[in-house]
Amino acid sequence: MANDASYFAGLDIGGTTVKAVLVNQLAEQVGPLAEVRSLVKNGYEATFGQLDNALDQLATGAGIARSAIAGIGLDVPAPSSDGVIWGRANLGEDWVGTDIRGKLAARTGVPVHMTNDGNAAALGEYALRPAHSGSLLLVAPGTGLGGGFVLPGGSGFEGANGLALEVGHISVPFREDDGELPLCSCGLKGCLEAWVSLVALRRRLRLELAKPEWADHALNAGDTPVEEKAFKLREFAEQGDPLAVQIFKQQGFVLGYCIADMVRSLDPGLVVIGGGLAETSFRDLYMTWIQEGFIERAWPVYRHSPLDPDQVTTRFEWAIGGDAAAAIGMAYTALERFSIG
Ligand SMILES: [Zn+2]
Repeated sequence: MANDASYFAGLDIGGTTVKAVLVNQLAEQVGPLAEVRSLVKNGYEATFGQLDNALDQLATGAGIARSAIAGIGLDVPAPSSDGVIWGRANLGEDWVGTDIRGKLAARTGVPVHMTNDGNAAALGEYALRPAHSGSLLLVAPGTGLGGGFVLPGGSGFEGANGLALEVGHISVPFREDDGELPLCSCGLKGCLEAWVSLVALRRRLRLELAKPEWADHALNAGDTPVEEKAFKLREFAEQGDPLAVQIFKQQGFVLGYCIADMVRSLDPGLVVIGGGLAETSFRDLYMTWIQEGFIERAWPVYRHSPLDPDQVTTRFEWAIGGDAAAAIGMAYTALERFSIG
């Protein structure tokens, strides 16, 4: 049972690494972030072995006995319900349909709470803003487009099937230059993720580079695959390259436009933009593009209070947790759920 000397671990399973964070009963992070390879493609047993290593590292780093860890928060890069992964997972085959939460609880002998990575990152951003007491919507462009929603007080909202806040798959009312709706990784057409993600950047870049106006562009030189060229787009945008800026500007506008509809559903008060863009030197510019799209679609009341025009009704902030946000969120969630102190 948890007691005064109890600690709570947050374990964030990603495609390549597991990040792990420990908090004490006073909600203070103790010891350094631990990081190990996730080995998710080798099956969940291989990853469980790595989670053991991560928990050992946390205990050593904090100078505590491993047995003082009294609860675990776990997040996985896949939708799950009641600790069982549903599918569409970038994991080894045996993860899907397995009671991951139950098996890990049995293996470690402590209670485990499990959610997806988007919810976990939203919980982390919430935990890192102790002065904020309202709700929080996280929208995080990365390889795909994740999202998460935290209710006032700090509980994540997961929906009936653990599938709430799949914001990457809401419908965008725009078409490509050729009149088509871009195909999404989920199989649908016209999803937000098909406009705002690394995958979307690749498609946009391929389309743009085929145009005569960019024939002499540096990214058109050589026979580097477009997948690699897309990784360079951020660097080009940071240097003010017109093509890269144009692509990110369109992406930011579409993102802001769709956030307006998310805000109309959730009225979160605070929208946090996560993902790697938070680390770029053109992020202020990117935020103005998000705002342009948001203003296009959001009613004025979602921007300024009708009673006090100086009062902003929907604030936008960049994520502050970096790639540790999800692990932090899960450590705090484990503390909240499993502490009896
Ligand atoms: Zn989709």
